[in-house]
Amino acid sequence: VVQLGMPTRSVITTCAYCGVGCSFKAELRGDELVRMVPHKDGGANEGHSCVKGRFAFGYASHPDRVMEPMVRDSITDPWRKVSWDEAITYTARRLREIQTQHGAGSIGAITSSRTTNEEVYAVQKMVRAVFGNNNVDTCARVCHSPTGYGLKQTFGTSAGTQDFKSVAQSDVILVIGANPTDGHPVFASRMKRRLRQGAKLIVIDPRRIDLVRSPHIEAAHHLQLAPGTNVAVINAFAHVIVTEGLADREFIAERCEDFDNWETFISSPEHSPEAVEAITGVPAAELRAAARLYATGGNGAIYYGLGVTEHSQGSTMVMGMANLAMLTGNIGRPGVGVNPLRGQNNVQGSCDMGSFPHELPGYRHVSDDGARAVYEQLWGTALLDEPGLRIPNMFDAAIEGTFRALFVQGEDIAQSDPNTTHVHAALAALDLLIVQDLFENETAKFAHVLLPGTSFLEKDGTFTNAERRINRVRPVMAPLTGKQEWEIVCEIAQAMGYPMYYNSSAEIMDEIAFTTPTFAGVSFAHLDKVGSVQWPCNVHAPNGTPIMHEEGFVRGKGRFVDTVYVPTSERSTRKYPLILTTGRILSQYNVGAQTRRTANVAWHPEDLLELHPHDAEVRGITDGDMVSMSSRVGRTSLRAVLSERMPVGVCYTTFHHPVTGANVITTDNSDWATNCPEYKVTAVQVALTAEQ
Ligand code: SF4
Repeated sequence: VVQLGMPTRSVITTCAYCGVGCSFKAELRGDELVRMVPHKDGGANEGHSCVKGRFAFGYASHPDRVMEPMVRDSITDPWRKVSWDEAITYTARRLREIQTQHGAGSIGAITSSRTTNEEVYAVQKMVRAVFGNNNVDTCARVCHSPTGYGLKQTFGTSAGTQDFKSVAQSDVILVIGANPTDGHPVFASRMKRRLRQGAKLIVIDPRRIDLVRSPHIEAAHHLQLAPGTNVAVINAFAHVIVTEGLADREFIAERCEDFDNWETFISSPEHSPEAVEAITGVPAAELRAAARLYATGGNGAIYYGLGVTEHSQGSTMVMGMANLAMLTGNIGRPGVGVNPLRGQNNVQGSCDMGSFPHELPGYRHVSDDGARAVYEQLWGTALLDEPGLRIPNMFDAAIEGTFRALFVQGEDIAQSDPNTTHVHAALAALDLLIVQDLFENETAKFAHVLLPGTSFLEKDGTFTNAERRINRVRPVMAPLTGKQEWEIVCEIAQAMGYPMYYNSSAEIMDEIAFTTPTFAGVSFAHLDKVGSVQWPCNVHAPNGTPIMHEEGFVRGKGRFVDTVYVPTSERSTRKYPLILTTGRILSQYNVGAQTRRTANVAWHPEDLLELHPHDAEVRGITDGDMVSMSSRVGRTSLRAVLSERMPVGVCYTTFHHPVTGANVITTDNSDWATNCPEYKVTAVQVALTAEQ
């Protein structure tokens, strides 16, 4: 007997929000999705979920969904709804015209960390094989590109070292620039379980995140550093460990290189906690005690987020954390390691799939003749051996007039990228902007072609989570728009004269496995059999690799790198006396394109500015007042809430709502190695507004 209202069937798939990658049973009644139930066999979540994955799926059927392709010759023209054939013919013709008139380097694409591995792979293939350049970048540029650089330099590959389960064997947990309770809730539960069992917690963060003091958990140390001084703190940790004889010299001698020079560098008194206190504001004794705890407390694990990477020294800080793990032998076994908490559901995968302008799939440099030859033979065309443009370079080149057309896959760069005014000017300067998305987002306001995307409930493919776990994304329903996103990309390529054909996304994964050594053992059939696997998955590790660098590092020996602290140029001044830093809230997700279109929006209807009561009082601001906030690049208005989570002189907001537009404020400063924007440090002025 089937009761009215009860589900009649279910499909196992993967949450499309954060990098935890929870597995769910999507339960349906006929074709109607009734509820999402966390899957008890999910490798990442083991039956748990959070309010986003469980309740915030309604956006998939929201009336704002773009259901038909639209084109217009000018962004001042109204949209014209067209057939798929017309949209694809128009797009291909305009791309070819611009390519012919302005050269192959004048066009490019940005891939999404919200789409599947197969969809990302198709876009980077179109850029390399059809556009004829390496002008492909990913939204990871603005979040974890320093992880890619820093971990590759030190360990040899861009990936977290552990599986999530590993935290159950940690004795000391060092959380740096991350707020797992809000950003990665299901992993935070695992971490909290271990902390309640007695593991020690060290938090390095300007903001007093919930983890610092929560039921039955009290951090042993909360190092409330000044924003922008991460590298000084991590160097002081290493200085204490080296000068107090706490280093694991056996591990270093056997597994690492370039240690002697680095030891001389880090032993310098300029890195002592006493010297660093003046830079960071962290008391030397506290810093010294925290470093001793990490080095001597047993298995030490580092978990970090965008509070590490989104700085002018993001890459340096990633290498500093890698130095620290090698210095103490905290790498290559359960309970230890260096672990990026990836923000988006497929940020690991979008990087793995060759979305960077300097790397082919599997992190092989475009100048690697052997790697390039594999693709040249399979794709039947020569590939460029020079890196292409990064996202900020694309914007600059668009304003200069040398970059004329851009394909944006599932990203709202007009809202999410820093210095919105500059981004808008760049987008407005393009001859052709193609946006493929679920909604007519902020970026689409500058677009000439709007191609309807598919929600995760319609996709067939894989996401790769923060622990390198490749999860299946199974279609709960057929694409509401009539096409999978990889099909659209293939059809544009074909219309441009290049034969790009697949019968299914499984075939794309087969090509990924054929061309990418770390994915050689991956197929949909294998994933359906075992549930999920963590790459590398190949003949050496047919069931995947939960812990990396167990016997040796991917690059052979782990490399110590000098991490010189260079202060950011963004400082507080008389005109801009406060430092703004940004983050997320549990119920919302990034720019909110999805969560704002679900009932979750009721829990966080606007972005708020957390202001220390002292900073509020001197400005005559009380709790709930509307304030204006300006930086040297822009101005916005939002409501203030008084909070002692931030130290005096530092304020905090989220970036979930376009009306607030926190990125109107953030600057062009970026990481020296990767151009990841410095979202976390902006000097601002805050004042009470007249209208309340
Ligand atoms: Fe989705 Fe992340 Fe929540 Fe899991 S923790 S349900 S992946 S948002």
